[in-house]
Amino acid sequence: MVTIAQALARATSGAVSVDETAVSLRFEAELLLMNALGCSRASLLTWPEREISPSAHASFEQALSRRLAGEPIAYILGTKEFWDFDLVVSPAVLIPRPETELLVESALEIMTHREGIQHLLDLGTGSGAVAIALARAAERLRVIGTDLSTDALALARKNGTRLAGDNLGFLQGSWLSRELCAAIGEYWQADAAGLVDVIVSNPPYIAPGDPHLLHGDLVHEPALALSSDDAGLEAIKTIVIESKRVLKRGGWLLFEHGFDQRDAVAGLLRASGFDSIECLRDIAGQDRVTRGRLS
Ligand code: GLN
Repeated sequence: MVTIAQALARATSGAVSVDETAVSLRFEAELLLMNALGCSRASLLTWPEREISPSAHASFEQALSRRLAGEPIAYILGTKEFWDFDLVVSPAVLIPRPETELLVESALEIMTHREGIQHLLDLGTGSGAVAIALARAAERLRVIGTDLSTDALALARKNGTRLAGDNLGFLQGSWLSRELCAAIGEYWQADAAGLVDVIVSNPPYIAPGDPHLLHGDLVHEPALALSSDDAGLEAIKTIVIESKRVLKRGGWLLFEHGFDQRDAVAGLLRASGFDSIECLRDIAGQDRVTRGRLS
């Protein structure tokens, strides 16, 4: 039998970490071992001499080799932390990133100064991360998450049921196509035109062929969630134009975008009749979220 300390030492000795640093491999090996044993980090660190059952050890070794082959740790564990909750994730969805929390913060900041029922859309919801964070913020917010992918929506619904109340729903469709706008109206039993207060989206914004797509987790994530034609701007252009089908005058559109897309995105918003355009920086200091108000 192998002890916790031995399993971790073997996992990190001589192996080349996918993230290049021994520190991150040690950290990830701990996460995988916690998962195999169903225990906390405190328990790993407190009882390093504890022996591991052969079956737990085998599942740890198997998970570790998947990680060393480059598979994202979130897909191996099947969960990812976002905001104040843990989401179930699978290769059908983008792995939620910490910088996307800026999108949530920015939307909440807009809404805290207002009262009454507000209608919100999260376009391209993926795992449901953003929609769920918004729906959890206040009961009076009515939130719909949308996605083109049926597999993503199935997962988002599963996450939504567990993590949010019945003020959250999910609908399938492309951005704000006429069909989807009609479905939104039906869902909220109202005319969708001019109904929506805030639209958020973390759309695909990486240009096809961008070298970033060949590295790290992105290699394993769905292309639909990552890249967009027209230098990565196609989805954003469509959202800006189609948002006017449902957005109220004075309503807000916010989205995440690439670090070098700030000016292009601001230009698109301005050309489509948005004002109060502002770009926010993420924790790494990169231009990451832009918001604008429909005048
Ligand atoms: N809205 C989801 C997220 O932020 C998915 C985004 C996407 O698939 N592009 O994680």
